[in-house]
Amino acid sequence: MTKYIFITGGVVSGLGKGIAAASIGLILKSRGLKVVNQKFDPYLNIDPGTMNPFQHGEVFVTDDGAETDLDLGHYERFTDATLSQSSNTTSGRVYMTVLQREREGGYNGGTVQVIPNITEEILRRMLLSTKETNADVIITEIGGTIGDIESLPFVEAIRQIKYQVGEENCCYIHLTLVPYMNKAHEIKTKPTQHSVKELQELGIQPNILMLRCDVPVDQTTREKLALFCNVDSDCVIQNTTARSIYEVPLQLEKEHLGDAVCKVLGLQTPPTELTEWSKMVDVFHNPKDRVKIALVGKYVDLHDAYLSVVESLIHGGIANELGVDLDWVDAEDLKDDESTKARLKDADGIIVPGGFGSRGIEGMIQAAKYCRENKVPYFGICLGMQIIVIEYARHVLGWADAHSTEMNKETTHPVIDLMPDQNGKILGGTLRLGKFECAVAPGTLTEKAYGSSTIWERHRHRYEFNNKYREDLKKAGLVISGVNPERDLVEVVEVPENPWMVGGQFHPEFKSRPNKAGPLFRDFIKAAYDNRK
Ligand code: GLN
Repeated sequence: MTKYIFITGGVVSGLGKGIAAASIGLILKSRGLKVVNQKFDPYLNIDPGTMNPFQHGEVFVTDDGAETDLDLGHYERFTDATLSQSSNTTSGRVYMTVLQREREGGYNGGTVQVIPNITEEILRRMLLSTKETNADVIITEIGGTIGDIESLPFVEAIRQIKYQVGEENCCYIHLTLVPYMNKAHEIKTKPTQHSVKELQELGIQPNILMLRCDVPVDQTTREKLALFCNVDSDCVIQNTTARSIYEVPLQLEKEHLGDAVCKVLGLQTPPTELTEWSKMVDVFHNPKDRVKIALVGKYVDLHDAYLSVVESLIHGGIANELGVDLDWVDAEDLKDDESTKARLKDADGIIVPGGFGSRGIEGMIQAAKYCRENKVPYFGICLGMQIIVIEYARHVLGWADAHSTEMNKETTHPVIDLMPDQNGKILGGTLRLGKFECAVAPGTLTEKAYGSSTIWERHRHRYEFNNKYREDLKKAGLVISGVNPERDLVEVVEVPENPWMVGGQFHPEFKSRPNKAGPLFRDFIKAAYDNRK
């Protein structure tokens, strides 16, 4: 019998519901349960794929090519599960399905309404993962905050679901803010009480309260909240501000969250086992040394736009017992003069992550040039790989206007271009999304990193290395270290005059885990550290 956990948020947004959901996943997984996390977002976009990174942060990509909310990245990193298309649903997608069905006559002329038709479709989607994964526990996070108009159908759906799957199989967790008033040295419970009341008015009695607070919540306060919110006092769990997101599951487990959840769901399991995780957290917080990485990008003002990349750099650090200090460099600040060197000279390694559009491109090319000429380790992801190719074509082969046709359609050397079968299609339809195979060339840094001749990484891009220029670039020295065998597409390039300058057309940040760093991240951090020494 599958068990269901629903996580809602109260009082304010941004409490770390995603981290809480991921932590519960990790805790239950460590008790031997098969866990799958999913997220339901109330906004109307069909998926975050076309949303501005400045607004929505990174788009996380699954193996099967879904463009999803960044919380799915937390879920995968904490639980090491492989999520899928059905793991993230938006109101937009729900409405689209219902409206299409309506146009096709699927409702037999009946009136189509939010209740029951939209809620039915939400319920259907909530239960999809059960069928697809055979999980013991499905953890569903509802985006937004209780009280939002747009999340009402989702809240109604999770109320109704207990009549389908049995109340004894459902656990409702409500995460709220418990503000600490500095001057009065007082913890305030009223916002939580109001939020729970609102939830109760919608027909949901939370089983577990999770309290986000900057200071420890005392026993009297907990008892008070338990009493006023109809929750057992051992189900009032504090979630105080942690040193890092990876410490959150350890803190929650200190509060016996695993026991509380298992009690509510009637689950009999071995105790929570987080020894490995806790060792990892220990290394993270007590590194033997530090390394400085400059991240050159165009969305640097919103760090969430590069969330998985940043996490993966941290993982690479952990694998080398190193702390990673990030220097966020706005690509537009890097010019074709001495100032670039001055700006980048303190970095032990430079990373250029993915991106779309032409803003900042020339600065990224300057960063690549600086790294190639000064033997500073460089890691290019997707766009960052394309930048290596453009820079090499321009400054080693002397093709001054070499470019990607994404930025310059008129270039005489389109070294990065659309493939013939992509031309003329609409924007949304032409992205290469999800995992693809890559054959790795022997004796390369890529092979050394992965220790394998075949790898699978996830993609999210439209443009490709142009095979028309492959021979010229190879002759000039560029190493092609990975190729997609099916379509003969270049996946990884290396610059041999630099001890570690690697660019992948894929996004290895989506598969990196805190305990199992993405191999290229691990080796990049090592190379940066060697460079520093
Ligand atoms: N804009 C480039 C492309 O579409 C790179 C995309 C990316 O970095 N994710 O190919």
